[in-house]
Amino acid sequence: MMPSMREVIVAANWKMHTSPGDASELARTISARTRVPSVTRVICPPFVALASVRDALAQDDPDVGIGAQNVHHELQGAYTGEISAPMLAGLATWVIVGHSERRRDAGDTDEIIGLKLGRAVAAGLRPILCVGEQLGDREVGRQVDVVRRQLTGALAGHAPSALRHGGLVIAYEPVWAIGTGRNASGQDAAAMSSAIHSIVEDAWGDTRDDTPVLYGGSVTSANIAEFLAESEVDGALVGGASLKPDEMAGIVARAGLTAAARHTSE
Ligand code: PEP
Repeated sequence: MMPSMREVIVAANWKMHTSPGDASELARTISARTRVPSVTRVICPPFVALASVRDALAQDDPDVGIGAQNVHHELQGAYTGEISAPMLAGLATWVIVGHSERRRDAGDTDEIIGLKLGRAVAAGLRPILCVGEQLGDREVGRQVDVVRRQLTGALAGHAPSALRHGGLVIAYEPVWAIGTGRNASGQDAAAMSSAIHSIVEDAWGDTRDDTPVLYGGSVTSANIAEFLAESEVDGALVGGASLKPDEMAGIVARAGLTAAARHTSE
């Protein structure tokens, strides 16, 4: 599949923001301002707001995907405070796995992230697998090595067909760009996206990887065009700006231009 035919996705990671009440209102506002054909929209509120966001959008805008921000790698057990994939049934159809904030704060390793990926897909949750290097890695030119290690670790042991069928999405999120206001360049994102496809092809032993690759890291309505101008970039995972309806409206509108151009060239 040519890069130009891949799905265009804008996913909102609300992190630890919004109460259930705030979240339903914000979801309604964002949904009303982002009805752009052919862009896949996903909102990932905190666990406690999944039900209110689902209910808020069920009638008006069921096209918005609802995602969890994490999932546990076991199905059940003595894991106080954790949520397993089957528990998300009816609440979410997407899930973020391997976010750098969880790698940093919750000790998520590549192996654990791989297990989460398997649980997500088995439960019918579409995974957004996050990878990305630290600033120090980039400064010494090791960014692709780091992402290769993260990806091969997470993909190990999973049948390519299961992940493809499960709708795997990969988000390249350089850690130094997350929440810092310092975004990567469009060219950096495109180069890493190409590297990610090669790594996935090597891992899967095939030559036509069509996994959507998003960029994440201080994306705003002012810089989204730089990323989506690159045919290798299939959308964005948006943190801080995703809490602002004006920002989301601008980001999704720009994504709509890319989606329309891809459809025209099909
Ligand atoms: C994120 O949380 O995935 C993210 C990219 O955050 P921000 O857009 O705030 O950098």
